[in-house]
Amino acid sequence: MMQITAVQGDITQQHVDAVVNAASNAMRGGGGVDGAIHGAGGPAILEDCVARFPDGLATGDAGWTTAGALPAQWVIHVVGPNRTAGQTDRGLLLSCYRRAFEVADELGARTVAFPLVSAGIYGWPKDDAIACALEVLRSARTSVEEARLVAFDAATYERIEELLRQVS
Ligand code: ADP
Repeated sequence: MMQITAVQGDITQQHVDAVVNAASNAMRGGGGVDGAIHGAGGPAILEDCVARFPDGLATGDAGWTTAGALPAQWVIHVVGPNRTAGQTDRGLLLSCYRRAFEVADELGARTVAFPLVSAGIYGWPKDDAIACALEVLRSARTSVEEARLVAFDAATYERIEELLRQVS
């Protein structure tokens, strides 16, 4: 039975097997979580992105690279729907989490830290972004033992805890 945990903090500092990155289709870095992960992990992550994903990644899909200098071993990049750009398909957001678990299982990752995909620059409403994450985390069939939702700010952390305590 997989454990779902929530913490407030910086995803780059998590001591887990894999951290999930809210990447863009190009997989060449960006702002938010993406910028933080590339910044803290160093150039090895971008090099691996270029080598392994010359054409980037489709929205809703996931793929892994090295985690470079991060405490984690792998980065699992996912591309959430960009609501600000008119992508409103919730299925694509659910798919990010589902695909991340599939990739985690391929890697043999047992502990995985997730950001709230699409909830920042991509403009997905926070409560529904949390609901999407919890929906997949609660129903995941996976060998992952801990899925850790990482909130950057206190208000988001409190809201995750609140929704986590609700019976779904
Ligand atoms: P997207 O482009 O998919 O919206 P963002 O990186 O802009 O992704 O934001 C996703 C979520 O991650 C937001 O809730 C944002 O506050 C949060 N976030 C930003 N930086 C970090 C970080 N270093 N660690 C954890 N969460 C972060």
